[in-house]
Amino acid sequence: MTQDTLHPHRSAEALALVAGVPTGLYIGGAWVASADGRVIDVTDPATGDLLASVADGTVEDGLAAVAAAYDAGPAWAATPPRKRSEILRRAFELMIEHSEDLARLITLENGKALPDARGEVAYAAEFFRWFSEEAVRATGDVQTAPGGANHILVIRQPIGVSILVTPWNFPAAMATRKIGPALAAGCTVILKPASETPLTALAITALLIEAGVPAGVVNVLPSRRSGPVVSAMLHDDRVRKISFTGSTEVGQRLLREAADLVISCSMELGGNAPFVVFDDADLDAAVAGAMLAKMRNGGEACTAANRFFVQRGIAPEFTKRFAAAMAALTMGPGLGDGIQVGPLVNEPGRDKVEELIADAVQRGAELVTGGARGREDGWYYQPTVLANVPAGSSILREEIFGPVAPIVTFDTEDEGVRLANDTEYGLVAYIYTADLARGLRVSEALESGMIGLNRALVSDPAAPFGGVKQSGLGREGGHDGLLEFMESKYIAVQW
Ligand code: NAD
Repeated sequence: MTQDTLHPHRSAEALALVAGVPTGLYIGGAWVASADGRVIDVTDPATGDLLASVADGTVEDGLAAVAAAYDAGPAWAATPPRKRSEILRRAFELMIEHSEDLARLITLENGKALPDARGEVAYAAEFFRWFSEEAVRATGDVQTAPGGANHILVIRQPIGVSILVTPWNFPAAMATRKIGPALAAGCTVILKPASETPLTALAITALLIEAGVPAGVVNVLPSRRSGPVVSAMLHDDRVRKISFTGSTEVGQRLLREAADLVISCSMELGGNAPFVVFDDADLDAAVAGAMLAKMRNGGEACTAANRFFVQRGIAPEFTKRFAAAMAALTMGPGLGDGIQVGPLVNEPGRDKVEELIADAVQRGAELVTGGARGREDGWYYQPTVLANVPAGSSILREEIFGPVAPIVTFDTEDEGVRLANDTEYGLVAYIYTADLARGLRVSEALESGMIGLNRALVSDPAAPFGGVKQSGLGREGGHDGLLEFMESKYIAVQW
């Protein structure tokens, strides 16, 4: 199948799910067409079927959204925190009420298996609940100046108009993880969802409207012309913040652009997570953890375990059991009964996985399971395990973003740490060991913003999520997530 042969028809279920989703741009409280009338065709990665055509925002639309957000800013910032909190709480409740439809919509446009989509909706809704609770906790500080002559008063104020740019792999959670804290802090926003998956963002926008978000506070602008549209917004001096989740390459470009007007940046970028298993680990727990860390979202997660470093004594048994668990997964269209692995999001995503495996095998890696597409009716790739992957293989350097696990064997703790840190990324790392002292020592030594210690799932709206090195700047979630959308103002005061 190629993009040219996509079928222009939709299944009855797809029609019903998509029917209620708005397809316009949402600017200043109104659903509108794009200024030049162009649309983005959204397709189902499992079949290639056209799902919907969504307005494709222009530079002019982007600037109209900035104007709307700017105009709505003062009233929203002055809205009592309790009122902002209650709107977010209502948005949480509405997401839970509509969770099954939202999950099915995510599966339709993203491809992920329905259990993964359900998990995403629950996680995404939690950001509205958590930040409804944080909205009333934007505290300041007061202290006596060390010299004793005055007081130091620090108040926290909303940073202002914020641009939120999100990727396709978690179309709901990456949007709520930014909208929640921004609205809690008193900021107004323009959300630019990924062109592959705009329907989820538009469906959540409809729920935010129902929850009582005033006109202009949330503006939503799908666009295939992301570069020029986001650039124009970043060069508008009414904008004060960009919060981006996506690839390191695009993040670097946006950081350069943001430098022109010194716009505040939060960057959640790529990952290359190591999964380190020591000889003393509980093998059952390590294999279950490996499955979760690798296969959540079919491997299409920035937190996905990308490189498996396994100590020599446990390596043969770990590899055998892990490969058996991978081979037992059921792959097919994400909405199908019992399906655990859906297709990849698009053809380039599938091709990249094939290229990374071919490179590793050609360098001498051993194919333990998988290694083929498995199906030809969508962008599928079988769950795959590679053992003895040689240093220098591209698969150990690049984000795989697919269901493939490369295993490397190591001998000493120092060697495991050195191999794990041998990457420009630093988002998350996983460690499995029965020795807690070793686990904490290695946690300290790993260059990573987050650690899963005998735990394969770290994402939690109450925790600060983010990376070091080229995985990003800033944190989302926890109290830190709120502070990303606030400025501290210091008042020197004598009384
Ligand atoms: P991407 O960088 O291609 O796109 C992300 C978003 O940026 C999309 O909305 C896209 O339309 C937009 N975009 C693309 N070019 C742009 C430009 N020149 N200017 C402005 N916006 C532009 O990433 P993707 O392929 O959608 O997502 C996968 C990437 O996201 C992976 O690298 C993954 O690790 C990363 N990711 C990171 C996290 C995290 O929290 N660290 C979470 C999820 C995904």
